[in-house]
Amino acid sequence: MTKKGANEHQHSRVMEEELAAQLRKALQTLRHSIPIFLFVREGFNDAYNDVARKTIQAFSQLSEKIEFKEFSLDHKLAEKWEVLYTPTILFDPDRYSIRWLGAPVGEEGRTFLEALFLLGNRDSMLSDQSRKIMKEIDGPRHVKVFVSPTCPYCPQQAVNAFKAAVHNPEWISLELIDIQSNPDLADRYNAHSVPQTWANETLIAMGAQPEELFLASLLKMEEQTIYIPEDDAEVVEADLVIIGGGPAGLTAAIYGVRSGVKTVLVERGMLGGQITTTPIVENYPGFSQVGGRTLVDIMVAHALEYAKIFQGEEVMEIQPGAPMIVLTNRRKFITKSVLVATGATYRRLNVPGENRLSGRGVSYCSTCDGPLFKDKKVIIVGGGNSAVTEALHMKNIGVEVTLAHRRGTLRAQEHLVENLTTNNIPILWDTEVKEIRGDQKVTEVLLYNNKTGKTSSLAVEGVFIAVGYDPEVRLAKQIGIELTPEGYIKHDSRHRTNIPGVYSAGDVEGGFKQIVTAAGQGAEAALSIFEDLIHPYWLDKDSVAASGS
Ligand code: NAP
Repeated sequence: MTKKGANEHQHSRVMEEELAAQLRKALQTLRHSIPIFLFVREGFNDAYNDVARKTIQAFSQLSEKIEFKEFSLDHKLAEKWEVLYTPTILFDPDRYSIRWLGAPVGEEGRTFLEALFLLGNRDSMLSDQSRKIMKEIDGPRHVKVFVSPTCPYCPQQAVNAFKAAVHNPEWISLELIDIQSNPDLADRYNAHSVPQTWANETLIAMGAQPEELFLASLLKMEEQTIYIPEDDAEVVEADLVIIGGGPAGLTAAIYGVRSGVKTVLVERGMLGGQITTTPIVENYPGFSQVGGRTLVDIMVAHALEYAKIFQGEEVMEIQPGAPMIVLTNRRKFITKSVLVATGATYRRLNVPGENRLSGRGVSYCSTCDGPLFKDKKVIIVGGGNSAVTEALHMKNIGVEVTLAHRRGTLRAQEHLVENLTTNNIPILWDTEVKEIRGDQKVTEVLLYNNKTGKTSSLAVEGVFIAVGYDPEVRLAKQIGIELTPEGYIKHDSRHRTNIPGVYSAGDVEGGFKQIVTAAGQGAEAALSIFEDLIHPYWLDKDSVAASGS
């Protein structure tokens, strides 16, 4: 081993020991034993069997409360508990009906850790509002959540389901199904995009949900998108409520608190926004190459040093005024100002077959769903940085990928385009996808060459759509924030919108849409807010006239 290699090895060993010490300390808070039974059949899914065994063993060495037992699928206990798949993990099966089909690796490691705390304390940690919804569930719900180790959104939904199963073991049973180690089950349910949640064999949610919306969907047995808390919801007072936990929101949180503004941040899903699913970032100063997920972890840890972050809460309503009210699915914020940093959501192609086959071969997240298409043929649609970055990522993980772009040149950065050529990724130029076909799952796409006017079909198992993003302006529209003709939030150079006390930052404003510009806009907006809270410009007629918007 070289000296550099030896140093790195030593460094990672120290890191592992530090992490183990932290986990050991945290697990000391467990109040009850957690019997964990692993069932395996050697010769099938051995890599997953092995990871499951090693992970549980490692945790059982950190806490005596974690009691690990392993059995073969031929054992009579497998018959007793009707275990059919390898590996399957049962958690405290005499008390709960919770099974994990697969191994807790990658992003799912977070789910496993959270599950240990829920089970070891026999406390679901559900919010007060969620407990009220749970009380209304008066019949059995057999929940299946399909997840994948590469999906950063999955732990949120998986933990929601764990909480429900811990809270009411009488009615709620849970099967957490890893689609990578259980491709047959994924095929049977056509669960090719994760997370995906079923209850009593009915699809009740695509994607991750805030806790209350998950439970409302479980209660009603269909996907719910609105949950307004009851009057007794907790009230939180703040100077600034930031909506959105991408780079703009996280930076604004740091700058807000450091300026002395009492700042909170609300994020409905994953912190980090679009970066979370960006495989590699190469243009954020200070990092010549960094995984999107790693960059998010660093930013979030930094923001948490300052601001209170309410994750998994969705803003349902903003009531402008002095003070303003921001209502989430869980609580009510009373605030002097609001920063809308809601980012953007992926754009759809709007072609026949897209919606019907979404999650059945049509995907908008190569990081999440890409690994399921290893050795399979997929098409990526788009010609910008996202499409090219995702094409490179997919090729790298062994997917047979073709890029289809509607023009004769790409919009992506030269450096990325060169990598496409180096990696021999075929490009269909001047090509539009007109239809996505397949019965239960994608089997082919109908292509149109806009230069030759010819149509053709291409057999593929996956269609990954990366055709840009549209600003997330639902809340902005709801309260009458003015938009530009392109649909972005109209703002002045101090990030003020037309509504006094309401500001914007990041992709929702349009512009260059880079991580570094979003962070810059977040910083600027927070500093403006700090100054405006001291000298409210809306009380100063001359300033209002001069600023315009
Ligand atoms: P984008 O830059 O807006 O590119 C969207 C691409 O999709 C364009 O090539 C566009 O074609 C195509 N397109 C749009 N609508 C279409 C439709 N209906 N049918 C077929 N094709 C369609 O979006 P993006 O690539 O998602 O990037 C968004 C922002 O994030 C950009 O500012 C980008 O620079 C940034 N980003 C940066 C990085 C990086 O720096 N590494 C990585 C990812 C994203 P036309 O060219 O014909 O319009």
